[in-house]
Amino acid sequence: MPLIPLRPLLETTVKYGFAQGAFNVNAVAQAKAVIQVHEMFRSAAILQGADLANGFMGGRVDFANATLEDKKIGAKNIANAVKKYGATSDIPVVLHLDHGKNFDSCKAAIEGGYTSVMIDGSSLPFEENMELTREVVKYAHARGVSVEGELGVLAGVEDHVFAAASTYTNPLSAVEFIKNTRVDALAISYGTMHGASKGKNVKLRKEIAIAIRECLNHENIFCALVSHGSSTVPQYIVREINALGGALTNTYGISIDELKAAIPCGINKINVDTDIRLAVTRNMKEFFAKYPDKQTSASIGGIYELLESKKDQFDPRAFLEPIMDTVMYGNIPDEDVAAIVACIEAGVKEAVGTLIVQFGSYGKAPLVEQVSLDEMICRYKAMEK
Ligand SMILES: [Zn+2]
Repeated sequence: MPLIPLRPLLETTVKYGFAQGAFNVNAVAQAKAVIQVHEMFRSAAILQGADLANGFMGGRVDFANATLEDKKIGAKNIANAVKKYGATSDIPVVLHLDHGKNFDSCKAAIEGGYTSVMIDGSSLPFEENMELTREVVKYAHARGVSVEGELGVLAGVEDHVFAAASTYTNPLSAVEFIKNTRVDALAISYGTMHGASKGKNVKLRKEIAIAIRECLNHENIFCALVSHGSSTVPQYIVREINALGGALTNTYGISIDELKAAIPCGINKINVDTDIRLAVTRNMKEFFAKYPDKQTSASIGGIYELLESKKDQFDPRAFLEPIMDTVMYGNIPDEDVAAIVACIEAGVKEAVGTLIVQFGSYGKAPLVEQVSLDEMICRYKAMEK
């Protein structure tokens, strides 16, 4: 099936009271595996490319320095992979830009084939954030593409997202923001945090989600609420990585019980990245430990060297430079690369499959309306009246 915009899927989550995980992908193999595991659980799927991930998928290993041109190429590469696997899939699939940092990034993603974009103006003053978000909504909705905004500041690091301290979202401002911008989804700050060092026993301020949701209901306004920085950081995987020679410290996520408790409070989309990174990295380390002769493989020995030289890291992008052609286009030149791709796919399926079940999106795919971008253009037009 063709990719669908985010909006119809969000409407289903609100109607049936579950949350949809949204999973970041940085390689063709990850896109394939995310779609396959959602198919297995009969769940719709949201695949996310972060603004800078698009740079990586555009061939920039030093993705923090990616230019708009790199991101344009990468957005196309991700979209091509997601469209390829989504086209033959029976589940609804959304391709969403995570943390678009300006209008041009959003435009590049839409041109590349994304069906949903986030514009993150959360670091701007309130009025400027609204203005920027309104501008993106106008452009995106005219093309049937959904938009997520952000209000409030999360602590932690996620690619380009830096903030020293967390400032929770003010529910009154959130309602005003949603009314004025007509965003389809809003990322709120309520205690989650980007990155893998969220601290022990994080408690979420679920009252913030309840307050916003209650007001939206009273005003009869649709908007889904999004929980960013919501990786659970499974401790068994952290222990396994360290047992395989890794040096991960202070690595904690949000407990699955806290996340599940946030869902009936009005959280509809939950963004997860770190869990996948951890599972993929563990699989690669395990593979080289199990098959020491592969440590000197002509095609993948370089991955082993990078894993060994960066023991405190767990982002697969730090290790995959030797197989960028595979990352970007899915080409598999030999058996050794195929084995690494299998490690990546299995890691994705373990991390994502767990959360599909926990967040309650399994079995819900048939409830999601398959809306084309053209049809969505008409619906957005009708909503303006
Ligand atoms: Zn985020």
